[in-house]
Amino acid sequence: MMNLDHQKAFFNQGMTRDLSFRKSQLNALYHAIEKHEKNLLLALEKDLNKSPYEAYMTEIGYVKKSISFALKHLNKWMKTKHVKTPYYQLFTQSYIQPEPLGIVLIIGAYNYPVQLLIEPLIGAIAAGNTAVLKPSEQAVYTEQALVEMIRDTFDQSYIDIITGDAAVTSSLLDLKFDHIFFTGSTRVGKIVYEKAAKQLIPVTLELGGKSPAIVTQKANLKHSAKRIAFGKLINSGQTCIAPDYVYVEKIIEKEFISELQKMIKKFSDPHGNYGAMITDKHYQNIVALAAANPHGKTAEKNQEKRTIEPIIMHHVSWEDDIMKREIFGPILPVLTFDNTSELIATLKEKEKPLALYLFTDDKAEQRKIFSSLSFGGGAINDTIIHFANPHLPFGGVGQSGIGTYHGYASFLTFSHMKGYTKKGIKLDLPLTYPPASDKKFHMIKKFLK
Ligand code: NAD
Repeated sequence: MMNLDHQKAFFNQGMTRDLSFRKSQLNALYHAIEKHEKNLLLALEKDLNKSPYEAYMTEIGYVKKSISFALKHLNKWMKTKHVKTPYYQLFTQSYIQPEPLGIVLIIGAYNYPVQLLIEPLIGAIAAGNTAVLKPSEQAVYTEQALVEMIRDTFDQSYIDIITGDAAVTSSLLDLKFDHIFFTGSTRVGKIVYEKAAKQLIPVTLELGGKSPAIVTQKANLKHSAKRIAFGKLINSGQTCIAPDYVYVEKIIEKEFISELQKMIKKFSDPHGNYGAMITDKHYQNIVALAAANPHGKTAEKNQEKRTIEPIIMHHVSWEDDIMKREIFGPILPVLTFDNTSELIATLKEKEKPLALYLFTDDKAEQRKIFSSLSFGGGAINDTIIHFANPHLPFGGVGQSGIGTYHGYASFLTFSHMKGYTKKGIKLDLPLTYPPASDKKFHMIKKFLK
């Protein structure tokens, strides 16, 4: 049975508190990714049939850029900040000092198995923690490549990596970590939350859900179709912030679907070389979902490669099975609405999604929809790209998650912001000390309003 004694001893030595140590470890991680790049790319191809181009853009290059960003800003992030003090607290200075939480557990999902493990790790290192990593067991080749890279780079008492199935993850959740960072399904997120609560361990939960792409009659249909197709097709729909479905204004339905079909055709590999579903089980689930719709029956598929041609589903309603769960595959249902007030009223009844995309050139419509609906994050006239801006916090709300990360938000997630005051010893305001008097009471009433 694993315990955290070595990590605790390492953390208690105190070196993770130094800027120079954190920078050297981030640099080590950067060089490790470069050294193991070929291995990681090959593993991603074997697990998900990810092309090196896509894998570099969304995983390898993505985390390298993220390390560079953290290295550039870390000095500023770590500084103790001097803040204002209320005037009645005489001769007092106030500060906020970020401090590491301690030992953190990072649990990854299968769909971006490198990025979803390494991105939080960057935050954990930057904030001065030690970490235990648990990659997804479903991405078997990448799991192995990650083990090789991490073991080759870090002292095991500082950054460790543990592999295994749900039972292994479950036993890790019995250890007394100082923070748990989980990426995965809402179902497992609930298990993690419950176990963490038993020991009062704070959590970040990066979960999933059904993210809509809304297209109104004021949208540029060509651009909308292109950007929605991009967001859906990347990793064959296995992206937490992929548009799960399209919600299009009825009056432009036909025209929009025709644009979407063109774009999907243009983006699809002529040799049918699509991203693969991660497992046979997931492949069968997506095939069954597709087959439940008349349009899905025509989809090309390859059981051996676990690939499925992208499908647009027309005439879908909220009662259909496909609208009752996150799809996580290359099926794009299209629903229609009559006007934006009806759309807002309907979406307010649904769970708050991880992302929402709105396609319209009308500023009033943009304001109306973005200020009425709650969602983790999103984009106007695009999909996915908000994820890749390190100046934006990323995370869900409601059932799509708890907490945020990326850039400074990662640093905050893995730090405790310790607030304290410092007071001179020469002068004291008698007002705060007993015994009470009517005069003191009168003065306190004047200050505290
Ligand atoms: P998953 O929930 O099945 O697995 C995630 C992790 O949980 C794995 O490491 C696994 O070992 C562990 N796990 C599985 N069952 C467990 C159990 N019973 N007890 C303890 N641990 C357990 O998720 P997945 O299938 O790998 O990923 C797909 C899901 O993740 C989708 O819902 C997707 O939306 C979501 N996701 C969210 C984000 C985000 O940033 N919000 C990113 C990627 C994926």
